[in-house]
Amino acid sequence: MLNKLEKIQQHLKDNNLDFAYISNPNNIGYITGFYSDPHERVLALFIFADTIPLLFAPSLDVNDAKASGWEFDINGYTDSQEPFEVITELLKARTSDVSSILIEKDHLIVERFLAIKAAFPDAEFANGTDLLNRMRVIKTADEIAIMKEAAELADYAIQIGVNEIAEGKTELEIIAKIEYELKKKGVTEMSFSTMVLTGINAASPHGNPGLTKIQKGDLVLFDLGVMHKGYASDISRTVAFGSITKEQEKIYNTVLKAQLTAMNTVKAGVAAKTIDLAARQTIADAGYGDYFPHRLGHGLGITCHEFPSITDNNELLLEENMVFTIEPGIYVPNIAGVRIEDDVVVTKDGVISLTQYPKELQIIQ
Ligand code: MN
Repeated sequence: MLNKLEKIQQHLKDNNLDFAYISNPNNIGYITGFYSDPHERVLALFIFADTIPLLFAPSLDVNDAKASGWEFDINGYTDSQEPFEVITELLKARTSDVSSILIEKDHLIVERFLAIKAAFPDAEFANGTDLLNRMRVIKTADEIAIMKEAAELADYAIQIGVNEIAEGKTELEIIAKIEYELKKKGVTEMSFSTMVLTGINAASPHGNPGLTKIQKGDLVLFDLGVMHKGYASDISRTVAFGSITKEQEKIYNTVLKAQLTAMNTVKAGVAAKTIDLAARQTIADAGYGDYFPHRLGHGLGITCHEFPSITDNNELLLEENMVFTIEPGIYVPNIAGVRIEDDVVVTKDGVISLTQYPKELQIIQ
């Protein structure tokens, strides 16, 4: 089996491309094992069809890059050097007659694109976004094992949050408690800003947690995830605090039914749209079709939101070992917001859920 680097080199050969300029730090980490946020500095990976690759990094990161296990060349540049002057010299020493270059059109910023174009004015540019997306979407057994651990930490975080619910506690207090407990377990980074929304705030799918106090009769919505060994988890759960109305309960149980229906629809060979539509139909049948305003889910891996997008019109056929979220929701202004989300792995015959926190309606007294 080809490794990641060999797959890209094969793609370059098959498409008569001279080299790939990988600019997305997540993709660089995925290929090289060197995960780094270069901020405004230039981090770049150059992969050639027929010669060894080159990692280009700020000088201050070169030692970390070497320690990451990357076994090929690493070149640094100092803050007083012009990075593209150095890059141009390095590339011209390795290549000649460059006619086509692979870039990530969804990532490379215009200034850097123009710099590489100025160095190779006759070259054409092909897009590598799809190649990288399709490589990343299929997870290895090792990746799935890490993602399972990330999901277990997300389950734990939900448990901390649920235990912390009490009359008068604010959304931000609960978030602080969740993140404090996770940090004690060594989690350095959440996969996105932790969301705890209560009462009518939960009826906004992307609400902003604040000083709203939890009250009896509220539904409390949690949406959170951790970064763990370079991989993201993402879970949503909604629980009731005290008794809730019949309508809130109906909304909850409709979301649960939609989520389970979608999970039961997943298996290799099914189109992505089929599972979105299964959930959407369940919600429409219950009379809430106008209140599910987002896609069913998104790919998950070294970042929290990635390829594929699980929408009602995505024809992509699911394959074994794809990992994505399934997260239907219903948001009725002034009445309730409910979302239930799991991270799942596609198998030959079905699905494995990485997140495991219970989903039956939980009423906290
Ligand atoms: Mn999500």
